[in-house]
Amino acid sequence: LFITFEGGDGAGKTTQASLLEDWLTDAGRPVVRTREPGGTEVGTLIRDIVLHHRGEVAPRAEALLYAADRAHHVETVVRPALERGDVVIQDRYLDSSIAYQGAGRVLGRDEVRDLSLWATAGLLPDLTVLLDLDPTVARQRLDADEKPFDRLEAERETFHVRVREEFLALAAAEPARFLVLDATLPAAELTAAVRDRVAGLLG
Ligand code: C5P
Ligand code: MG
Repeated sequence: LFITFEGGDGAGKTTQASLLEDWLTDAGRPVVRTREPGGTEVGTLIRDIVLHHRGEVAPRAEALLYAADRAHHVETVVRPALERGDVVIQDRYLDSSIAYQGAGRVLGRDEVRDLSLWATAGLLPDLTVLLDLDPTVARQRLDADEKPFDRLEAERETFHVRVREEFLALAAAEPARFLVLDATLPAAELTAAVRDRVAGLLG
């Protein structure tokens, strides 16, 4: 079972992924929790380029770097885990590329999806939890965390609005794969909704 968490920065993906991991582990399920970009040793090098040289990397090069990270990650971590029968819980996957590079950088939805599907040899999640959050609210949340250089700061508000709208459009186009949750709900409610859906998939 391959489960991904998507949404903008500050939406609570990492928190919910971690709570789901604990719940499944307590139930005796083997779980691999991982993330993109940077889920492998090679990936951490790519993560350093895309995050610390943001704005210097040409948009098509950026899309290729995310795709390279994903290709390596899927081949060396995700597919082997799925083949063992483990549950893979992942922070961000190809929907992030479609939203950030496709819509945010305006490279195009179909182009970026095709690139990602080539990179992963067509691997799609069984479930994608979209934690939907207004970028203005996300900004207030991250400001409250007192992070000196918050992640939203790197792009303009309009960029984050495009990213959010693309995530919602992707979810609307594939309702069977997506679970869309309002990220402003209490964390416990989000956790319960995720568990409900995952329990249904595990049968
Ligand atoms: O979720 P995480 O904090 O690891 O994401 C790192 C950053 O990379 C985020 O700020 C996100 O905006 C950005 N990102 C991106 N394109 C992707 C994936 C992540 O711009 N495909
Ligand atoms: Mg996170």
